[in-house]
Amino acid sequence: MKFFFPDSHDLVDPSFDFQKESRALASNRQRAQMYAHEILKYPPYDGMLISRAAVEKLKTSVHYTFGQVQRLKRVGAREFLRLNEVPGGDKVEIMGDCGSFSFVKAHVPPFTVDSLVEFYTDCQFQYGISLDHVILGFLKKPEEMEVPDDWKRRFDLTLALAEEFFEKCTDRKVPFIPLGAAQGWSPKSYSDAVIAMQKIGYRYIALGGLVPLNNREVMSVLEAVEQVRKPETKLHLLGISRIDHVQEFKKYGVASFDSTSALKKAFMDDKDNYFIGDKTYTAVRIPQVGENPGLKKKILAGEIKQETASELEKLCLQGIQEFDRGQLSLSDIVNRVRTYERLWHGKKDDSALYAETLEAKPWLRCPCEICKTVGIQVVVFRGAERNRRRGFHNLHNLKTKLAEKNKL
Ligand SMILES: [Zn+2]
Repeated sequence: MKFFFPDSHDLVDPSFDFQKESRALASNRQRAQMYAHEILKYPPYDGMLISRAAVEKLKTSVHYTFGQVQRLKRVGAREFLRLNEVPGGDKVEIMGDCGSFSFVKAHVPPFTVDSLVEFYTDCQFQYGISLDHVILGFLKKPEEMEVPDDWKRRFDLTLALAEEFFEKCTDRKVPFIPLGAAQGWSPKSYSDAVIAMQKIGYRYIALGGLVPLNNREVMSVLEAVEQVRKPETKLHLLGISRIDHVQEFKKYGVASFDSTSALKKAFMDDKDNYFIGDKTYTAVRIPQVGENPGLKKKILAGEIKQETASELEKLCLQGIQEFDRGQLSLSDIVNRVRTYERLWHGKKDDSALYAETLEAKPWLRCPCEICKTVGIQVVVFRGAERNRRRGFHNLHNLKTKLAEKNKL
């Protein structure tokens, strides 16, 4: 089973200095900084997924400049992402999708099938997913509930677009493999979609809209699809990783999935930020005085002095290094971080979790380039350079786990 990592311009600056917290300023971020596949020894994914919506700014969190979009289309995704310049990069495949979640509220998708086919061709993807329209809902007992008309409309529209996409790909003999995107609201509707997709001619089908479903619901969809799936039909799960279920997924013909969760949990999860094997650790939060909204508010209101906050912040950062060198005890560093935490987050007390992370020193056990080079800094929750590196480490861990499960 292959893991595709959705690209959203996640790069780190190799010139970042962890002591001074400074970088050699570069004008072009994408050129000066490094992707996970450049900073780690081997690409931590089998493929990358590029969404048209992200490239064309429908998704505000991703910023491709005008020049970058032009270059992506001119030189192709492989060269743009510098995949040919790293060991193993030639094996990384690139898949394109329309990024339908970003226009879920629109009545119809904002672009045409023609332009999507052109986009995939220009970017030189190996796989391209048909244009779809997300159905935001799942009926737990579909037989007892009325299916909203809008869901049926989106279902029919997604099938019609998939048919048009397949025809145009066939007519133009496109260089990529087309995937049909299936949407549904119940196990039965997903299996109906798969029947229709196979009839159109698809042999690789991407199941969308599964992200909010729990494991049992995802399995119920896969079981229903299994009843109608032709032996040669492969499945891709959009936005789902659920690595612990890889063996079951395989039985249902799942050949690939994509997910950003390994990266995002590094800086978005309350607790699970650093993954190693099957264990997770909480990263030690030392927010920047100038960047933390809670602190800024208290300083502005005159509740605390900026100097006090800055002094505590500095003591924590120094303390982390002293602890790493064996010059500060575990309880001393945890107390320092706790004193600072009281200031920026009155109620929260993550001391026990931080102590667990710092005592276990998981970065010493990890062979990835990030842990080997930045050490303890990988578990410090602070700023994009540290947080993203922890995310890259998590990608490495996911890829390693997947490789083990693929061997079984
Ligand atoms: Zn690591």
